[in-house]
Amino acid sequence: MLTLGQVVVHECLGEQEQRLRRLVIRGPIAKTAKPGQFVAVQVQDSSISSFDPLLRRPISIAEISPDQDEITLLYRIQGRGTEILARVQCGEQLSLMGPLGQGFTLPEEGELWLIAGGIGIFPLYALAQSALAQKLTVRLFWGGENQSFLESAGLLQWQALKIPLRLSTLDGSLGHIGLVTEQVGEQLSQLFGQSEQGQPMGSGKISVATCGPKKMMQAVTELCTNLGVSVEVSLEERMGCAVGACLGCVCTLRDEAGKLIRKKVCQDGPVFRGEEVVWDVSC
Ligand code: FAD
Repeated sequence: MLTLGQVVVHECLGEQEQRLRRLVIRGPIAKTAKPGQFVAVQVQDSSISSFDPLLRRPISIAEISPDQDEITLLYRIQGRGTEILARVQCGEQLSLMGPLGQGFTLPEEGELWLIAGGIGIFPLYALAQSALAQKLTVRLFWGGENQSFLESAGLLQWQALKIPLRLSTLDGSLGHIGLVTEQVGEQLSQLFGQSEQGQPMGSGKISVATCGPKKMMQAVTELCTNLGVSVEVSLEERMGCAVGACLGCVCTLRDEAGKLIRKKVCQDGPVFRGEEVVWDVSC
């Protein structure tokens, strides 16, 4: 699980101001990784010998190429750890732990709707590729701040998949003006009309996978569970060890008997069934 990976591509993604990076790493993780899993990347400044920052940074596996032994990570420079990561050069070795966590479940049939807010799009690409390889119908609903963000964060790559895309931006510069959940709600109510729970009119069974801001995933879960549509959410919590030992990333869930339970996002997640998440409890 602890391994070295060689950096084969490390580049700025889109507009500089978006602070997004694409990092392709060659190593054994590509052979076993599943969509929705992540790696914990060591981010230490190689020019000074120190253990600072001590904690690895969790980044989702955005693309998996087992034939080339490559995984792709897409990330936004947020703070010190990702700033150090952004200085890593091609050819360098990175220490990685992974693949970690429980990823998304691929439905056996029907339509898979991917619903993303902002950089929550990153872990969904590998899932889209797997679903398309299994001949599932895939749709993407993706909301972001503006056109520049969506283009920088990989819109062209998504368009190349030739799947139906519903885009929204907060400023209306591309697609629907407003929240992505508005488009999802509208589409669901059109499809479900007077139909039976979990079975929309005129199309196969729908399953949903979502990643993005917590409020968005909560709204998506409510829309879906009201209609009996199964939904998986990818939770994001700040992590310490990333392997289940430190309990730094626990979240609150409700089990089938309705009892509140605590689970670790790093080990039991990051992907959970939407209806089991207790959204209004801070972790
Ligand atoms: P810090 O200095 O630690 O923090 C800078 C700012 O970012 C602070 O405001 C802090 O509150 C916020 N922040 C830090 N960590 C998190 C977090 N986990 N969730 C929310 N806010 C945070 N980021 C990506 O860009 N691409 C990914 O594919 C991706 N996948 C992730 C998968 C998982 C399972 C998790 C838990 C997180 C993921 N993240 C991803 C978030 C990423 O781990 C953080 O942005 C990163 O750890 C920040 O480290 P830093 O040292 O640069 O920032």
